[in-house]
This record gives sequence, C-alpha cells and structure tokens, in this order.
Amino acid sequence: MFSDRDEFKEEFLKKLEMTCGKSFGESTERDHYFTLGNMIREHVSTEWINTNERYRIDREKQVYYLSIEFLLGRLLHHNLMNLGIEQVVKDGLADLGIDLNRLEEIEADAGLGNGGLGRLAACFMDSLASLNLPGHGCGIRYKHGLFEQKIVDGYQVELPEQWLRNGHVWEVRKADLAIEVPFWGKVETTEENGRLVFRHVNAETISAVPYDMPVVGYKTDTINTLRLWNAEPSPYPVNHDILKYKRDTESVSEFLYPDDTHDEGKILRLKQQYFLVSASIRSIVRSYRKQHSSLRNFHEYVSIHINDTHPVLAIPELMRILLDEEEMGWEEAWNITVHTIAYTNHTTLSEALEKWPVRIFQPLLPRIYMIVNEINERFCRVLWERYPGDWKRIEDMAIIAHDQVKMAHLALVGSLSVNGVAALHTEILKNREMNQFYEIFPDKFNNKTNGITHRRWLLKANPLLSDLINESIGAGWIREPEKLRELADFKNDRVFLDQLHQIKQLNKEKLAKRIQEQHGIIADTSSIFDIQVKRLHAYKRQLLNILHVMHLYNRLKEDSNFRMHPRTFIFGAKASPGYYYAKKIIKLINTVAEKVNYDPQTRDVLKVIFLENYRVSLAEEIFPAADISEQISTASKEASGTGNMKFMMNGALTVGTLDGANIEIKEKAGDGNIFIFGLTADEVLSFYQNGGYNSREYYHHDKRIRQVVDQLVNGFFPDADDEFEPIFDSLLMENDQYFVLRDFASYINIQKEAGKAYEDREHWLKMSLMNIAGSGYFSSDRTISEYAREIWKIRPAGVEMMNK
Ligand SMILES: *Cc1c(COP(=O)(O)O)cnc(C)c1O
Repeated sequence: MFSDRDEFKEEFLKKLEMTCGKSFGESTERDHYFTLGNMIREHVSTEWINTNERYRIDREKQVYYLSIEFLLGRLLHHNLMNLGIEQVVKDGLADLGIDLNRLEEIEADAGLGNGGLGRLAACFMDSLASLNLPGHGCGIRYKHGLFEQKIVDGYQVELPEQWLRNGHVWEVRKADLAIEVPFWGKVETTEENGRLVFRHVNAETISAVPYDMPVVGYKTDTINTLRLWNAEPSPYPVNHDILKYKRDTESVSEFLYPDDTHDEGKILRLKQQYFLVSASIRSIVRSYRKQHSSLRNFHEYVSIHINDTHPVLAIPELMRILLDEEEMGWEEAWNITVHTIAYTNHTTLSEALEKWPVRIFQPLLPRIYMIVNEINERFCRVLWERYPGDWKRIEDMAIIAHDQVKMAHLALVGSLSVNGVAALHTEILKNREMNQFYEIFPDKFNNKTNGITHRRWLLKANPLLSDLINESIGAGWIREPEKLRELADFKNDRVFLDQLHQIKQLNKEKLAKRIQEQHGIIADTSSIFDIQVKRLHAYKRQLLNILHVMHLYNRLKEDSNFRMHPRTFIFGAKASPGYYYAKKIIKLINTVAEKVNYDPQTRDVLKVIFLENYRVSLAEEIFPAADISEQISTASKEASGTGNMKFMMNGALTVGTLDGANIEIKEKAGDGNIFIFGLTADEVLSFYQNGGYNSREYYHHDKRIRQVVDQLVNGFFPDADDEFEPIFDSLLMENDQYFVLRDFASYINIQKEAGKAYEDREHWLKMSLMNIAGSGYFSSDRTISEYAREIWKIRPAGVEMMNK
C-alpha cells in the first residue's frame, strides 16, 4: 500500500485526474470521495485475489452465510481502519486541504436490512475476515434499502432510499458469473435408464448477476467476499410481453421487504428468497466443482449457514442439485444436505414464523415443491414410527399442513444445527416453542449468544474512549476483546475515571450539536442522556418509556418539591410502513416532546428528542453519547438484542428487563452495575399460558397509571382528538398484551434509582467502567469463533498478520 503520505498524495492526485477528468482545483468533495474509494478498492484487489487463490489451493473448508439482509452502513472509514492506513490517508488528505471526516459523510449507508438481524450479518462478515476464517456472505443487492424516514408534523413519512444513486464504489459487477434462476412452468417426469428424470420446462428465468464486495479483515491479509445478487432480465426470456417481463424481473431486487400482506407481495417475497438461495447455492457448487470431481464429500468442504428461515430453500435447492444434476439417490443426497446446512432461529414471536400457502409455493417453484413434499412425507413417516397414532403431534410438526409450508419446520428437519441467539432464547426454544423437535433432535440444539464487532462499535465509533483504553491496557483488546477485562483494575483510579467522564461529555456534546443542527433543540449535556434506539415494535415497549416521561412531567407539574436529575430522553426508531400501531407510538413520542420541551416549568429538566431516520451511521454517533441504555422489552420477547451490547461497550448503564442478552450483560457487568426491573420470562409465559393478568386492575389501583393512560384520550394533548385511542384501547380493552401497565411501577422505581445513582458521579463512572470491562464477551469475534469451532468446523487460514 502507501508507505507514506507523500506517496499517497501523488497517487490520489493522479487518480483524481484519471477518474474525474478534472484538475484538483475544479474537483468537488464528491469527486474526492469517489477517487479515494476507488483507489482503496483497487489496492485491495490484489490481496482479494490472493485470498481466493489461497482458499482454492488449500482446499480448506469454507462457510457461506446466507442472509436476506446485510445492514452494512458505511464502509470507507471501516476499510481504512482495517487496512491500517487511516492515519496516512488522513494526513495526506489534510495536506491537500481535504477533511477525511467530511468525505466519510458523503458515503450513503448501505442499508440493506431492517435492524438487528441484518446488522448481525454485517458484524459477522467483519469478524470472519478479521479472524482469517474462510467465510463469505450471500445476499440481495436491493436497489432501495430500508426507507428513509422523515418526521412531518409528528408522523413518520417514508421516502424511497437511494443508496445507489451515485454508484457504489465498493462493489464489482461480475456479469460473466450470472446464474439463471427459473420460476413458474412445470415439471416433466420421464423414466430414463430405469431412473426418474425431472425436467423443469416452460420456466420464466431471471438472471442473477453477482456484485462482489471485498470484506477487509482487521490488519490481516484476508479479504473475503460478500456477494450480492442483482435481478436482471434473462437473455432467454420465454415471456412475450417483454416490458412486463423486464419490470417483473427487476422488481425481485428492487426493494427490501416489500409489502407481504397481500398475495402479490407474497409472491415477490418468496421469489426473492428462492432467487437468493438458488443463485448462491449454484455458484457455491460451481466453484466447488472446479476443485472436486464429484459432490460426494461436499459437506466436508462446505458449510452453509442460513440466517433465520428466509434462505431455508437452500435445503431443497441443494437436494435438487444432488438428485437431478448429480443423479444421487435420496439417502445420499439427504445425508450431504443435512450435514451442510446450519440454521439460526431469531424469534419466538409466532406472527414472525414464516409460512407459505401451497397455492403460491407450488406453481412458483414446482420442482422445489416436489422435493419439500418428499422431505415432509419421509419426516412424517419417521414421526409415525416414533409416535404411532399420535395424529395431533404429527400434524403439529409436519412441514406441510393445512395448505401451508412451514419454513421453520423445514429448517429444523434439514439442518445439522439449530441455534438460538442468547442463553434464555435457546432455553425457550428447547423447552417451549420447539420442544417437540428438541425431543427428536436434542443434539441439534445449541446456543450462540449474538455479538457485535467491537472494531466498528468501539474502535471506530468512539475514538476517544479507544485511545484511553489503548493508553491504559495497550491495544491487545482490538484482536482479543476479552482483554477489556483488564480495565477493571482502574476502577479506583480517580484520574482514569475522570478521563472517562470527560470522554462521555465530549461524545454527548457531539451528539447535542447534531441534535441542535437537525432539530433545533438544545440538549443539556449535564443531563442524563437516556436513549432508546431500535425498530419500533409493541414488544420493545417504547410505549413504557414515553408513558414514564409523561409521569415525570406530571410529577414536575404537580409537586413543586419533586426533584430529579435533568434528563434528555432520546428516541430513534423506524416503524414498518404497514404497522399502524407502531406509527401511533411515534406520533405519541413526538406529541409528548412538543409538550414537555416547550413548557417553561419542565423544559430545563425534561427533554424528549425523536431522532429522524435511525440507521447505522447515526447509531455510531449515538452509542458513545449514552448514559442510560433502554432495553425494556417484555421478557421472553427479545431473542437477544445487539443494541444493548453496543451501549454497554460504550459505557452506558442498562435499564432493562431480564430478557435476551440482557441477562448475560448482567452477568458480565456484575449485578450491581445494571438496573433490572419487571416480570421475568417465566412469569410472562405463565401469564400467557394460564391467564391471571388483568390490566384494568393496575389501571384502577395505581393513580399514576390512571393519570397517564387517561391523558392519552382526555384532551391533555389539545390537538390530538382521538389520535391515541388505539393505544388506550390496547392497554385496557385488549388487556395490554405486552404488560406495560404491569411493569410500570417497577419501571418508575428503577428509573428513580438510576437517576439517583447518576448523582454519585464517581460511583456511576465505576459502574460504567465495569460495563466496558465486561463487554469483551459480546464481541462478534467470540460469537464467530464459537460458530466456527462448534458448527462449521472451519479453521483460520494460515496468513501473516500485519504487525501494525
Ligand atoms: C444494532 C442495531 C439494531 C438492533 O438494535 P436492537 O436494540 O438490538 O433491536 C437496529 N438497527 C441498527 C441501525 C443497529 O445498528
């Protein structure tokens, strides 16, 4: 690469003239961004090719991570950092009067995901490469990622996201590697030489064209590949209405998560899933065949991981290739398939478990349907032998039942490993949600607690804190995050704690500046920054948070003796466009903000800010500035959470329920360094099973609750009319499915405790430090090492680490 800033500058200026056709004097910041991006990508190319060559020659086992979402965010800074050239580039650009930070702002977030699941896939890519593991991602190159959110008059407005508008410097189109994916048509069955032969005829094919992105590991030679498939018209269309065909085709990779509430949308979603799976599996098999004469030992060299059930058709697709193309018998093909595929479950919410009507599935994917049907019949036969006469159980467990294909059941039957994403979640899967499958396949079930890449979420997002850590314990934590433990030695070091405080303040000032620029609201940086950022969902209970704010407002208005440490409540959340209730909550948060922020009696102690368009690049500014992390889901509902880990790593204290990974955060930070409240998962699940909760009792018996709930509908918000009636109804008429009122008193108490604790600065800083010190466990390096060792059985490739 560049040995010094002068060499960098020379190359940068040459490249700028070549790519933009302008002199330096005429060039814009955008030109600078694209020049730099292209330059870095080209530099990466050699190592990228070398990595692939090495994998090919070594014939080491490789893993492919299939995910319908990759929430990557920006890549420039992250790549510069991982390549170890951040400083050279920064200095070189500074000589030319260019500010690297401003160039970074030009890059559009690659927002090809909704939230945690997609961000997990992105963190995993970083850890795989940084640990020198041969692992690649496969996804879809959506033209429009998750919508851009605007708040207008307190309501969410969605605009189409345009990350590709100016091109994307990190991708390389590989048109010669396109794969034709067939849909519709029918299957002709004939007998040839005593074998049944299946031909998919009259299919409408779509070209899957790969766009590859280099995944640069942290200061190592390993550069893996993230392959995103773009849907394009096939060169061999059978459809005669060419314009319609082109439109239909391109729609497959047009939007992330199209509306799936109607059949039209459903077909598109299922099309996306098969498109991803078929293109990915066939390209994996294609490169495998270059090194191996048959697919007999495929599972010894390839592991395929499916991130939730969206790519579960990998199972029948691999079967199809082994049966129809390799002409294997069923048993052998099945053995290879089951030993290749591993599955991660991300939720126990029953409404989120994917099911497809046969009337849609069968005509769209006729050969795949036949195979799923055969898998189902064989599985039901096994069940019948084990549980003779137990029709009910077989009906419950079948892959196809009542005209529906159950994707989770297919995943459970067709994979070698099934994992949950936090200890509690895995226990719930084993003992409740998937208990019947656990009985049959106990060895398949295992836990892999989620993680986040500490290189993006601490090293990059919080440079001040990273410097302090480096000065205190050295830089070893960057490769071995468990070393953050050593920070605990500083818990009685006043100077250190004071530096920790200064850093938090500086990060808060930075966020406050952005808030003022964007929203015109002044956030007091001596107030507690109490933050809840995540997708908007009833189970995540943003409602509990905002009702608490209303309660504090009431206290301040009614009791002149009431004292609290000033707080700034910050929210960031997108609601799914069709999720009516979630949008009401956004409106409520903004309505409360209007009221409390402008009331002279409260505005100095209470502020509410709703940050527009929550996304990865904004998240990187938010986590370092947080004092309190709100992780208040109804216990049992949040499989793991990863936002909770990002907060912890940046020294925020968690106010949370005993849900998902919060339980493990409590263990790692220490019981005294977290604020836990509310029902436990067992209690919640027992209420669901046995009844016994009546939200009206809490409403009637607790006047703090009655007051805030009534305020939703009694004119307290003068312009609201019946705006918040659906929220009122959900709490009282629908018996508060998420136990907001049940946990309300306990939440008020713990928040009061947290507020008090903040006033003992030294103690607070100690607690904050113990969170940072305990956060190493939540690095995705730990998570990925566990997957590699226990599920994928892959080893690090032997490469030289750069000693930078
Ligand atoms: C980490 C992250 C999430 C997941 O947050 P949870 O609190 O775990 O739901 C969602 N969106 C973005 C942009 C993230 O960075």
